[in-house]
Amino acid sequence: MTQCDKRVSLLHGPAPRALCRTTETMNHELPIPLPFLPFALPEIGEEEIAEVVDTLRSGWVTTGPKAKRFEDDFTAFLGDPGLHSLAVNSATAGLHLALEALGIGPGDEVITTTHTFTATAEVVRYLGADVVLVDIDPATLCIDVAAVARAITPRTKAVIPVHYGGLAADMPALLALAKQHGLKVVEDAAHALPTTSGGRLVGTLGSDATVFSFYANKTITTGEGGMVVTRDAALAQRVKVMRLHGINRDAFDRFTAKVPSWYYEIVAPGFKYNLTDIAAALGIHQLKRARAFQAQRQLLAEAYHTALAGLPLLRPPGPCPGDQHAWHLYVVRLTDAAPISRDVFIERLYAAGIGCSVHYIPLHVQPYWRERYGLQAESFPHSQHAFERLVSLPIYTRMTVADVQRVAQAAAAALRA
Ligand SMILES: *Cc1c(COP(=O)(O)O)cnc(C)c1O
Repeated sequence: MTQCDKRVSLLHGPAPRALCRTTETMNHELPIPLPFLPFALPEIGEEEIAEVVDTLRSGWVTTGPKAKRFEDDFTAFLGDPGLHSLAVNSATAGLHLALEALGIGPGDEVITTTHTFTATAEVVRYLGADVVLVDIDPATLCIDVAAVARAITPRTKAVIPVHYGGLAADMPALLALAKQHGLKVVEDAAHALPTTSGGRLVGTLGSDATVFSFYANKTITTGEGGMVVTRDAALAQRVKVMRLHGINRDAFDRFTAKVPSWYYEIVAPGFKYNLTDIAAALGIHQLKRARAFQAQRQLLAEAYHTALAGLPLLRPPGPCPGDQHAWHLYVVRLTDAAPISRDVFIERLYAAGIGCSVHYIPLHVQPYWRERYGLQAESFPHSQHAFERLVSLPIYTRMTVADVQRVAQAAAAALRA
């Protein structure tokens, strides 16, 4: 496997042959193909690298001072000192911990959107509770709050909205509904750093907990990682204990307390969900660049919006006036005027050297969820309709407006019957 194979296949499946053809093996009669434009790539700078090296040299590689600094920086970034930020090794772990801390368990129901990644829902099953999937708002592809209202039963304990693609779900309506019915709200903010709703950053909106992801293709990355944010001190304490084996003090406290102490207590069968200092070292510098990253993503989204005008593609909605979209994803939908299917569209873009993805194959289509709950596509008409037509185009900070124009030209060519 060559380096370029590896780089692409990690996130984007096998590389097309053109990517790995070297100039030696290439027939010089043929035009040199443009390099493959991957669907996603992280942007790791020298500061991140230096901080990781510093961590490695420090002798403290697992959870310690840098994880703590990353948490403090995260709270400062959100601008609300009343928040607790708790670093974990994935958003999946964070969602699990938040629901556990809220006491979700067997017999409970948790409502979420079918139009998400399975992690949003699987954590509910970890706890023995049941998932109730609902449809989306066809304009935003975020959870439909009216559908949530219809799905509430006496067993409903919580709702997990997803800020799809980096656009805030309708949080004012959802929080009002949750309050009316005494439901907990845990935001899946894996796409939403930084996103605002009503001028306030996601993470500060007043839900019980908000969970961010720092997976490799997210808006900032630590390779693998996540952050649980909450204003609830008791919930924060439970997450803190449960992310590290149910130990009543974490390793950092234990080894850095004024009086070094070997003593600890196990108060619950906890998990191993702590974030390493190696990962936090990346996060500290990625977070400093989060606003600049968002600005670059927004620039690319605006360039797409212009470059794709006139094609038989429905472009994604922007944020509400005055709000910010994180633009983790740029999702278009083929309209009925498109002469080809979504699958053929993706094949043609791929042949033109452009990586794409589909967010998401809805959960109601996936065998586990479909069979477990006897789900049918007719119950999720908006998600199903969108799924059959949507494509996520590449959007990441290392792209240029010229890359966007190349994608748009390839899309235009692909859409000629
Ligand atoms: C990426 C993602 C997750 C999981 O994040 P990890 O950090 O990989 O666990 C959860 N929900 C959504 C919507 C995601 O996109």
